[in-house]
Amino acid sequence: MNGKKITVLIFILSLSIALVSGCTKKIAPEESGEKVVDFALVIHGGAGAMKKGLMSEEKEKAYKAKLTEALNVGYKILNEGGTSLDAVEKVINLLEDSPLFNAGKGAVFNSEGMNELDASIMNGKDKTAGAVAGVHHIKNPISLARLVMEKSPHVLMAGEGAEKFAVENGVKLVDTSYFFTESRWESLQRVKKIEKLKNPIFEPAEKKESKFGTVGCVALDKAGNLAAGTSTGGMTNKKYGRIGDSPIIGAGTYADNNTCAVSCTGHGEYFIRYVVAYDITALMKYKNMSVEKASDEVINKKLKAVGGSGGVIAIDKEGNIAMPFNTSGMFRGYVTDKNEPEVKIYDE
Ligand code: ASP
Repeated sequence: MNGKKITVLIFILSLSIALVSGCTKKIAPEESGEKVVDFALVIHGGAGAMKKGLMSEEKEKAYKAKLTEALNVGYKILNEGGTSLDAVEKVINLLEDSPLFNAGKGAVFNSEGMNELDASIMNGKDKTAGAVAGVHHIKNPISLARLVMEKSPHVLMAGEGAEKFAVENGVKLVDTSYFFTESRWESLQRVKKIEKLKNPIFEPAEKKESKFGTVGCVALDKAGNLAAGTSTGGMTNKKYGRIGDSPIIGAGTYADNNTCAVSCTGHGEYFIRYVVAYDITALMKYKNMSVEKASDEVINKKLKAVGGSGGVIAIDKEGNIAMPFNTSGMFRGYVTDKNEPEVKIYDE
């Protein structure tokens, strides 16, 4: 082959490589700035030490079934043109009503053997928000949080005052016995035993087998609006009056149409101190990070470095989704108009 032929061959070769790579280059949605889905919804059911094999197959199935049911509820609302706010509330209601999760029925017990519930919700469209903390008689705290947002001039209401506000707005109170589950009661007894053996400082839960179990949901609706919500019983054996990150706007929940919607789960004290939900949106806003990068940075770098365990779910205005966690597992799932519900528990 003479020199001229070789040059032509190299030219053709490089041209075809350029063409092929041009065709196959995946344009990251966050780079394109386009909405990648019409609507999407992400949920979590808490992060913690869920190692494969530790949970019975039956239990695993039950969790997956309930998470899938929740995703289907959200899908239906969003598909019919409902708002992300409605989807978040209704999906969380379903999880609150399930004894499997640490929210509503099935909430963990505090050190006094009481269930003290926290929740918050935020609308990314106008950044309105509502939250309740330390309530004892509210079947669906996320709905009361929404009432605070829509029917009061306030953002956060706590304890008896929040319950008085609930009654004034037609919410029926439930007896504290409604929240009781045997497994959460046993958890409290186990933690108390461990506490007696060790020095008597507050231990968040039986560290090794701890599953936090909070529930959360973030959604993007067809109109392009984001919303986020979180509901929890807090942490087993928490001190009376302790309030976690879940009802704190900016810590456990945040939504801004310009960046993303976030719901957190994990060791609340860290999430409050590191203002986790807002930090993710701030990294996107001020550092131009993608939702995946910002969530990963906060959960797997910042929080992990200081021993703050947990995870988040987040969705941006284009429908890009992130679900990072630094524990061994996190109940989680998502659905969009383009794909079937997908549910996961472990690091897979
Ligand atoms: N973050 C919650 C709290 O500290 C607990 C959890 O997410 O499981 O109250």
